[in-house]
Amino acid sequence: MHKDHSLEAHVPVHDRHESTYYEKRTYAIQALLIEKGIITADEVRRAVEDMDSRTPALGARVVARAWVDPAFKARLLSDAKAAVAELGIDVSPLSVLVAVENTEKVHHVVVCTLCSCYPRSILGLPPDWYKSLNYRSRVVADPRGVLKEFGLELDPDVEVRVLDSTADMRYLVIPARPPGTENMSEEELAGLVTRDSMIGVAKARNPGGS
Ligand code: FE
Repeated sequence: MHKDHSLEAHVPVHDRHESTYYEKRTYAIQALLIEKGIITADEVRRAVEDMDSRTPALGARVVARAWVDPAFKARLLSDAKAAVAELGIDVSPLSVLVAVENTEKVHHVVVCTLCSCYPRSILGLPPDWYKSLNYRSRVVADPRGVLKEFGLELDPDVEVRVLDSTADMRYLVIPARPPGTENMSEEELAGLVTRDSMIGVAKARNPGGS
C-alpha cells in the first residue's frame, strides 16, 4: 500500500478504535524516532497543530486575490508557490504547487489516483470522498459523469482536464469568477470560493448564495 503523506497517521486514533496494521506501524516508527532523538513528541504535536489550523480559507484568499489582481494571477499561474507566499501563507511544506484556471472553455478537476495527495498547506485536510477509491478511479475514466454526480453539468464544448496529483506536485484550481461580482470586495469574493471549487468538482458560489 502506498503510504499517505499526511500527518493524520500521528493522531492518536488508537484511542478511538482498534488500530489497523498501518496505524500500529506508524506508532512504532514514531516511537522509535522519538526514542532515538531524531524528532520530539512536541515537534509531532506542533506539526499536527499546524496542519489542523489550515483550512480552505487560505486557498480562498489566494483565489480572491487572483480575481481582483491580474498581475497576481499571472504570477500565480507561473509560480504558484511563490505567489501564495506573497500573501504571507507558509508554503514550506509544499514541494511544487501548480495553479490552473477554470474558464468557459476549459475545466480542470484534481485527483490523486494513487492515494490522497492534496495541497494541504492551503486547503487543509482533504474530504473523505477525495480519498475514496470510487472518486480516484472513476473521475479519470468518466470525469463528466462524476462531476454530474457533484451537481456540475458542463457544456459538451467545454474541455475537461483531469489533473493527477503526486507527492511532488499539487494543484490549485482557480474557479471562474462568478458573474455579478464586479462590485464585491476581495474579502467578500473570498467568501464565494469553496473548497470543492478549488478541487474543481464545483464552481464558485454565486453572490446570491447558490
Ligand atoms: Fe497521493
